[in-house]
Formats: sequence, structure tokens, C-alpha cells
Amino acid sequence: MSKEIKNILVVDDDIVDVMAVRRLFKRFNMGDNYMLHSAENGQEALDKLRGNGYPAIVPIPRVILLDLNMPKMNGFEFLEEMRADPNLKHIKVIVLTTSDAERDRTHAYKSNVAGYIIKPITLIQFIDAITTFSRY
Ligand SMILES: [Mg+2]
Repeated sequence: MSKEIKNILVVDDDIVDVMAVRRLFKRFNMGDNYMLHSAENGQEALDKLRGNGYPAIVPIPRVILLDLNMPKMNGFEFLEEMRADPNLKHIKVIVLTTSDAERDRTHAYKSNVAGYIIKPITLIQFIDAITTFSRY
């Protein structure tokens, strides 16, 4: 059981930000225990979590790093739909955004996010997010 791969999902429309997270992931040398997946927007993330048109991410990710501003389905819309889905609602979500607006922060915490990080994410914040929030 302890050898089970833990999945992490990054949901962000900005490829540069996704690559930055991938770099941190490599630097932390997490590849043995974790697998990093990505989606470009909330809809794609839901589809990948549910296996709609994509192979489902199994097991369900422990942690989702979620951008707020995205086309098609933004981070708040994603959170609303995810929290209404009994299979997905327990996943720890950490917002990763350029927005330090109080309104966005409040809105995010009302949707039960575990953390709110302003981009760019640092190595320490990343390690913290993954190791703290991916425990059972
Ligand atoms: Mg964005």
C-alpha cells in the first residue's frame, strides 16, 4: 500500500506555469512516489478525473493545484462542480494564482481549499503543499 503511486493534478491554462511546476517536481525528485498530471482548464480536469474521453487518473489525485483564471471552465466553476461530486469532493485543492485579490481568496476558502499560493510557487511551498496535503 505504501508503494502506491500518488497522483497530483495541475490545472492551469498557462503552459509556462505548468512547466514551472514540472521543474519543481523534478527538483524535488518526486518521481518515485508521485505522478504529475496536468489539465488546461476545469472542464478538462473534470473529464480526466472522471475518465470522460481520457483514461481516468487512477487512483484519484491526492492534491490538485488549481489556477483560477482559465478559459472554458475557471477555477471557481471547477471547485463548485468538484465539491458536488461525491467521488471528487474530498480531494485537497491548493489554489495557485496570480490574483492576490481578497475577494478571490475569500471565495476560494469558502470552497474549502487547503491553501492559496500566489504565483510563482517556490520550491518550499511546493514541497509543503505536496507532502502536507497528500497524507491521508
Ligand atoms: Mg490562467
